[in-house]
Amino acid sequence: MSRTSIYGLTLDKLTDWLVEQGEKKFRAAQIWDWIYLKRIDDFKKMTNLSKKTIQLLENYFVMGTLEKQIEQKAKDGTTKFLFKLSDGNLIETVLMLHEYGLSVCVTSQVGCNIGCSFCASGLLKKNRDLTSGEMVEQLVKIQQSLDARAKDERVSHIVVMGIGEPFDNFDPVMDFLKIINDGKGLAIGARHITVSTSGIVPKIYEFADIDWQINLAISLHAPNNELRSRIMKINRAYPIEKLMEAVDYYLQKTNRRITFEYIMLKDLNDHKQEALQLAKLLEKKRHLAYVNLIPYNPVEEHSEYQRSEKDAVVTFYETLKKCGINAVVRKEFGTDIDAACGQLRSKQIKKERLIKR
Ligand code: SAH
Ligand code: SF4
Repeated sequence: MSRTSIYGLTLDKLTDWLVEQGEKKFRAAQIWDWIYLKRIDDFKKMTNLSKKTIQLLENYFVMGTLEKQIEQKAKDGTTKFLFKLSDGNLIETVLMLHEYGLSVCVTSQVGCNIGCSFCASGLLKKNRDLTSGEMVEQLVKIQQSLDARAKDERVSHIVVMGIGEPFDNFDPVMDFLKIINDGKGLAIGARHITVSTSGIVPKIYEFADIDWQINLAISLHAPNNELRSRIMKINRAYPIEKLMEAVDYYLQKTNRRITFEYIMLKDLNDHKQEALQLAKLLEKKRHLAYVNLIPYNPVEEHSEYQRSEKDAVVTFYETLKKCGINAVVRKEFGTDIDAACGQLRSKQIKKERLIKR
């Protein structure tokens, strides 16, 4: 049997497993203390466990499977990590510095099958889902990298906005969220965690039914079906009316604010008319809706799209504001290091393909 990553188990699952093996329940909390608080990298360093327990852990688990390939720092402090998985696949994770703290953008799949027409991740079809352990380890590895700088820096915020569609890998992503949120582990506050989806409607209902405070963001990008179906083919399966019904259910169930992401694409979705349509769409839920206007990160293969002009962004923003819709223009991070969704990874894959030829 191949050994799995210790980072993939929730505290409950680890506890159950230990009890099955004839170990005491409290060992689980001790092990978590070593891996998430002391952040050691070898089972042998767990000095309060017996040799027998350490051997048991070593027989069943590995302490992670990710191998750091590249750590690239931009002028604004954004750091991009490229990791190699045990099967050779590459994923990327980004660390950003905000005024409110350090935030990590986590990848949930190797590639993405949703295939939005403006996205670098969608260019490379999904290879496989990530396991919960591989998602947790992105964070652990980055925190270990911060530990090595010895500046007492701690990751405080998480966005699941890297490569992949988290709701297309629902159960492992939910386990990942449980693990990083758990107070006995990394203890990232639920209000500091945001999951972004392209709009897989049935999973929005499921997510709404979970009793926690984790934030939800919806990649909307267009205020009508004609336009949205053109740039996001998922809209053909789950059109805006169905998406908004699910959003209403989420709002009524959680009473939490929801973010709508909107990439500003020049002459495509950035006219005043679309701003007015968007305001109308969100009118009834404007007390709980928040629009994030995102500057488009040019992708080489999608030359049909350009970034909106500044004037268009300002007009769009002001139109929303005048209609009483909360909006913000998202700050950009690390543009000098390909920090946009999937870009470093796709460049690296192209480079490796060239080398293999
Ligand atoms: N699959 C999920 C989460 C990952 S994508 C989703 O689509 O929501 C995270 C965000 O980055 C999404 O809002 C996505 O639309 C956006 N994005 C993708 N490509 C982009 C690009 N080239 N420039 C700017 N934002 C992009
Ligand atoms: Fe996948 Fe999100 Fe990119 Fe769409 S925007 S292709 S859902 S990662």
